[in-house]
Amino acid sequence: MSDKVSFWESQLQNVERVAEFMGVDPAVYEILCKPKAVLQVSLPVRMDDGSVKCFEGVRIHHNDARGPTKGGIRYHPELDLDTEKALATLMTCKNAVADLPYGGGKGGIACDPKKLSLGELERLTRAYAAAIAWFIGVDLDIPAPDMGTDEQIMAWFLDEYRKVTGKIIPGVITAKPIALGGSLGRTAATGRGVFLAAVEASKSFDIPIKGSSVSLQGYGNVAYYAALNFHEAGAKIVAASDSRGGVYHAGGIDPRKLMKHKAETGSVVGFPGCKRISTNDPLTVDCDILVPAALESVITSENMGDIKAKLIAEGANGPTLPDADKFLEEKGVVIVPDILANAGGVTVSYFEWVQNRMGYYWTDEEVDQRLQQVMKKAFNDVLGKVEEYEVNMRDGAHALALGRVSEAMRLLGRI
Ligand code: NAD
Repeated sequence: MSDKVSFWESQLQNVERVAEFMGVDPAVYEILCKPKAVLQVSLPVRMDDGSVKCFEGVRIHHNDARGPTKGGIRYHPELDLDTEKALATLMTCKNAVADLPYGGGKGGIACDPKKLSLGELERLTRAYAAAIAWFIGVDLDIPAPDMGTDEQIMAWFLDEYRKVTGKIIPGVITAKPIALGGSLGRTAATGRGVFLAAVEASKSFDIPIKGSSVSLQGYGNVAYYAALNFHEAGAKIVAASDSRGGVYHAGGIDPRKLMKHKAETGSVVGFPGCKRISTNDPLTVDCDILVPAALESVITSENMGDIKAKLIAEGANGPTLPDADKFLEEKGVVIVPDILANAGGVTVSYFEWVQNRMGYYWTDEEVDQRLQQVMKKAFNDVLGKVEEYEVNMRDGAHALALGRVSEAMRLLGRI
């Protein structure tokens, strides 16, 4: 990455720039640029070969003015504190954009889940859950999955939380398996939300979805369900990648068959009939709609000139660095920012938390109808700010979030 700023700095810049043009109390930025609480834990785990390995974990409460903090748990080898701080800040803003009664949080473990056996993964997850149990809670901080974690990890986490606290509180973690109190529609929710946000953008900016070509970076949970929705709406999936490489086919790829191939072989690479491309090539291939859905800081000053998409729906958190953001805006590319585009996941996590607390569960249709309502309202609320301040959608989304967060802080007497 040749750009001058890191992911963390770029998040701070977003907040600072928007706070300035909105003229909010400088105390808002002063508070938001430092997380409320950071818990760092050391996690000794017995490995299959008998040795003990100590992993580093973290959980962050960024801001709780609007409610309990909420955000995912990431397992990734390059996880560091600044990245987690950036992701937690982003969650404060995302939850406010979707108007959920939550603050922002995040957490994770520096590890490569692909290199751990199932037993090691379970022991590591249980060690993490036990170490942070006192720091989370159904009314305090509610984790969920993120990159490298899934519903099985949520299930082990829930079980360990029960053992440590002696309490059965399903709403303490979301995106659980259905059998343990998970919500219908949660697994697909982030990708579905990315698609719904793109549909709203297509209406506002006159970029058709039907017949368009879509390229996705990262073929995991978010990208797969986004691809499925675009495919079903008559768009053509032309490229996708994962950490091992990518595939391209101008004629279109069936997203279900591609996922089956990945499940069987461990990667999208080698999918029949496709040209092999690199992990980053989906960002720059010929396409109408781009969905970055892997890591942060991938759209940079180095590759911005090669991006051909007219619409970028940010499935990943923080995929676009500031210089590239500015360049693409000037070029007329519509960017639906992360805190709006990928808010569908946390929205259905919120629905899960509500259902857990009621002990009464909704149908798939009810969940989807409510998700559509939230995404549509969030999109229109952001557009309102875009018009009010004459800014792009990223700044409009941050203005919406900052307005809501600062109002809560003011009422609480914190500013
Ligand atoms: P995932 O672990 O299910 O999938 C991630 C995919 O990205 C995997 O296929 C992996 O191989 C691939 N990948 C990793 N490094 C890559 C690289 N350098 N190039 C190309 N591909 C690479 O994760 P996910 O849950 O789909 O999350 C993806 C992104 O979406 C992350 O930025 C995450 O923070 C964000 N997000 C996820 C959710 C959610 O509910 N899961 C919600 C909001 C945002």
